Amino acid sequence: MKAKYNAVRGTRDLIGKDARRLLAVERSLGDWCSSFGYEPILTPVFEEEALFTRSIGDATDVVRKEIYQFTDKKGRKLALRPEGTAGVCRALVQSMKLAGAMTRQRYFYSGPMFRYDRPQAGRYRQFSQFGVECFCESGPYVDAEQVYMIDSWLRQAGLADHEVRVNSIGCPACRGGFTAALQERWRGHADELCGDCRERIEKNPLRVLDCKVPDCYSQRGEVPAAEKLLCACCAGHFQRFKGFLEALEIKYRQDDRLVRGLDYYTQTTFEFVSTALGAQSAFLGGGRYDGLISQLGGPSVPAIGWAVGLDRLLALVPPELANFPRRYAQGAGFPAGCCYMAFGSGEAEAKYIPVIIQLLKSGIDVHWPGKPEKIGKQLKDANNFNAVCVIIVHENEVQGNAVQFKNFKTGDMVQVAWEAGQSPETFAARLAEKIRAITHAECRS
Ligand code: AMP
Repeated sequence: MKAKYNAVRGTRDLIGKDARRLLAVERSLGDWCSSFGYEPILTPVFEEEALFTRSIGDATDVVRKEIYQFTDKKGRKLALRPEGTAGVCRALVQSMKLAGAMTRQRYFYSGPMFRYDRPQAGRYRQFSQFGVECFCESGPYVDAEQVYMIDSWLRQAGLADHEVRVNSIGCPACRGGFTAALQERWRGHADELCGDCRERIEKNPLRVLDCKVPDCYSQRGEVPAAEKLLCACCAGHFQRFKGFLEALEIKYRQDDRLVRGLDYYTQTTFEFVSTALGAQSAFLGGGRYDGLISQLGGPSVPAIGWAVGLDRLLALVPPELANFPRRYAQGAGFPAGCCYMAFGSGEAEAKYIPVIIQLLKSGIDVHWPGKPEKIGKQLKDANNFNAVCVIIVHENEVQGNAVQFKNFKTGDMVQVAWEAGQSPETFAARLAEKIRAITHAECRS
């Protein structure tokens, strides 16, 4: 018997075990990200169309060709959300959550997104994304931590075949040099470019790098490396980001063409790809977008996030995988807040990076300012982070091999010695035990 109605082209039903798998992945990612201090946020699936055209950029494919816009009965111009970041930012600006904020805020979301694109395997008109957004943290370590968050989940799920691609597209101050170099690269070949790229060269040259038309000239040859054209600040950020990735043992490839399809990105961009997915090989995209909140009428705060396509992620996860990753052993519970590291000098910070990395790997949500600050200011900052403890490394303690461990809930402070010959792993394990003791006491009280 032929069905009278079918799912609309580009949409699909998930029934029984398929729906269960999607919900299980969502739950697992939500738990995983909660352990890094992320809170859930739910925003509407439709918004004012202008929110997307302004934030994503009206020269991008997502806005020019793919947006599902409609006019409601009162003549309002609305659109189904093509991605999650714009709505999350709008919600935070509207609720004044970021007003005057220097307090870190971390959110995760999950839900359907809509793009009018030509449907094919792995590309739908309604698809699901799980994403994270982190505000008020500018240090390059946060960028690496975000990559680590999903990379460690994938590894725990037994997926190690993906490639992590990274790039930096600089800030508005150094972007000009990069775009000029791109225009110079292509202007002389305008007649070999596809129609869209001919327009893009003048309007938004970064978008030419995104072109997917196989015989477009933009796909050929080398492109100027953004890295060489970055200002000192962005170049330093990018170098440190890559250094942290290496410390976290994340293999990555620097990809000069990686600019990503949305206009709001600044500095760090990254993408996860897997050859197992065929033509639609990218399954996660992310990056820094330090200017978006102020563009939407909020304060000027740094921000970074990623979104993973759950349809593509599920295509990667082996069907026999019954239990999706959990970051904590049964019963260990999530930390009630993060551990803050305060450093008296850059030298102290450099020495303790391997310890921080080990803390992070053992499931402790750890934060540090990432730039030189007075210890007093850092302690105030720790309060904003809802830290359960602060580990203070004074400049003179670099030689003395000891840290001050301050229980932020009781105010008690003890010295913890890093004994000679002790590895960063062992020292971090001792600190982790002390941190867990505080969080467990918190959970019980
Ligand atoms: P983007 O927001 O374009 O960076 O996309 C982030 C991720 O969402 C991609 O890596 C895909 O996994 C997923 N995604 C984007 N567009 C689609 C689509 N049309 N169908 C299925 N998944 C998609």
